Amino acid sequence: MPSAGPRPGQRRRAGSHGGAVRYRRSDGAAAAPGRFLVTDIERRQVSAPVPAGWDYAPAPEARDVVTIEERYGLFVGGEFVEPRSGDWYTTISPASEEPLAEVAQAGEDDVGVAVAAAREAFENGWPALPPSERAKYLFRIARILQERSREFAVLESLNGGKPIKESRDVDLPLAAAHFFYYAGWADKLEYAFPNRRPRPIGVAGQIIPWNFPLLMLAWKIAPALACGNTVVLKPAETTPLTALLFCDVLRQAELPPGVVNIVTGDGRTGAALVEADVDKIAFTGSTEVGKAIQRRVAGSGKRLTLELGGKAANVIFDDCALDQAVEGIVNGIYFNQGHVCCAGSRLLVQESIYEDVVAKLKRRMGTLRVGDPLDKNTDVGAINSRAQLDRIRELVRAGEEEGAEVYQPPCRLPERGYWFAPTVFTNVAQSYRIAQEEIFGPVLSVLTFRTPDEAVEKANNTPYGLSAGIWTEKGSRILWMAERLRAGVIWANTYNRFDPASPFGGYKESGFGREGGRHGLEPYLEFE
Ligand code: NAD
Repeated sequence: MPSAGPRPGQRRRAGSHGGAVRYRRSDGAAAAPGRFLVTDIERRQVSAPVPAGWDYAPAPEARDVVTIEERYGLFVGGEFVEPRSGDWYTTISPASEEPLAEVAQAGEDDVGVAVAAAREAFENGWPALPPSERAKYLFRIARILQERSREFAVLESLNGGKPIKESRDVDLPLAAAHFFYYAGWADKLEYAFPNRRPRPIGVAGQIIPWNFPLLMLAWKIAPALACGNTVVLKPAETTPLTALLFCDVLRQAELPPGVVNIVTGDGRTGAALVEADVDKIAFTGSTEVGKAIQRRVAGSGKRLTLELGGKAANVIFDDCALDQAVEGIVNGIYFNQGHVCCAGSRLLVQESIYEDVVAKLKRRMGTLRVGDPLDKNTDVGAINSRAQLDRIRELVRAGEEEGAEVYQPPCRLPERGYWFAPTVFTNVAQSYRIAQEEIFGPVLSVLTFRTPDEAVEKANNTPYGLSAGIWTEKGSRILWMAERLRAGVIWANTYNRFDPASPFGGYKESGFGREGGRHGLEPYLEFE
C-alpha cells in the first residue's frame, strides 16, 4: 500500500541521529543531522499572532460623503425659508452628543404657510397632471434615492444612531423601493379600485417618528403623491436631517413647488399641523399621542390613520429550527436597538425547550457588537435620545424590582453618547410592566407556554396588536396560530421582513389604517 506523504505542516520523523531527531525538509530532502527544521507553513504559523478572539478591526464608513449645512430652514413651496417663529434648535448625533446642525422650530404661522403652499399646489395642477406624469416624478425620486443612498445612509446613522449596515441595507433600499412601488400604482388607480372612481383627498398632514426617519417619510409621501394629494410632513425632532436632505432630492427631481413641504419642530409643531387646514392626518408614533390626535380630529371631518406602538409576541415552538429561531429572536429585538414598533419584544418559548433557547440566546448576545453606528461591523448602535434612554432605564429598573431576572452580555459601552447594552429578562410574569408596556429599546422579556392555546392567549394578552412571529416546522400550526393572533402582521420562521407590496398596520391600540401595498392607497383616496 503506498504510504501517504506528509500532509502540509505535518512533521515527519525520518530517523534518529545521536539522540537528536532529524526532520525532513518541506521539499522532501533530509535536513542536516542534529538540526531542527520546520516546514514553511509551520514557520508561518509560528510567526502569526495567536488570535485571542474574533474581534473585528474598526471599519468606519466615511463621513465626508455627506455635507451637513450649519442651518436648515423650513421647506415650503419648493424652497428653504426662515421660520416666522424665529426659533431654532440644535440636532445632535446621539452616539457622540456632537451638534450636527441648527434646525427650525416651526410655529403655528409657519405650519399655516406650509399648508397654504400645499393647498395651492393641489388646486393648481398636481392632481390634474396625467397620472403617468405623477408616476415619472416618483420614479425619479426613487432613482435619485438609490444613486445617493450612501450619503443618506451615513446621515441617517449620524443623526439617528442606527448601525450603518442597517441604514445602508434596510432603510435606504426599502425607502427607494417604496417610491418605485407607488410610482407603479399612480396611473393604475382605476384598476386598483374598479368601478369606484378614486379621487385624491387634498392636503395631507403627515407626522412621523424617529426610528426609521427616511423610511417612514417614504411610507407617507409615496402613496399620498401617487394618489394625487399634496403634503406637509413633519419629521421627528431628533431626526430631521434626512428629511431635509430629501428636499434636495425633490428639487433634483424637479417636483413642482408646494407638492411636498417639510416643517421641522417638536410636538408643538405636530399639534399645529393637526389643527391646520388639512384634509387628512397620517400619524406614526406613540399610542399616547395617537389618542390625543384622535380626540382633536374627532368631528372635524379630517380623515385619520394611526400607526402606533406594539408589544409583539415572538412564539417559539419546540419543533422549530432552533438556531434559525435564535437568529430571528435577535433580529426581532436587537435590530435598530429595539426602536421598532413591531419588535418581537415578548418572547414566548415552549417550556420543553426553554433552557436550550435561553442558553443559545445568551451565547449569541455575547457576539453582538455594540458601538459606533458608522462602523460597518456594528450590530447595535446608539439609543436615539437621552429621553428614550431614560425611559428604557426606568422600565428595566421596574422589571428588576418586580422580580424578573436580568442578563446583559459583557460589553464595553462608549463613554459619550446614549447607550444601552442588549438585555434579556427571564422569570417574567405577564403582569409585569416589561411584559405589558412598549420599551422601545434593546430589551427582551421571556415568558413560557405549554400548549398552542396557551401561546395564543398569552400572545394576545396586551392592549397592542401590531405584529407577531411564529417559529415551527408545521405549516398547519402556522395557519392555525395566524388565524387566532390579533396582530396586523405575522411572520412565520422569520422576523422583521418588509416589502412595499405588503400592507402594514395594527389592531387595537396599535392603531388603524394600513401602509404599503394596494391597501396603502385607500387612506389617500375618496370614492364615489
Ligand atoms: P411620539 O408619539 O412621541 O412622536 C411621534 C411624532 O409625533 C413626532 O414627530 C413628534 O414630534 C410628534 N408629536 C408629539 N406630540 C405631538 C402632538 N401632541 N401632536 C402631534 N404630533 C406630536 O413617538 P416617538 O417617540 O417619536 O416614536 C416612537 C413611537 O412610534 C413608538 O410608540 C412606536 O411604536 C411608534 N411607531 C409606530 C410605527 C407603526 O407603524 N405602527 C412605526 C414606527 C414607530
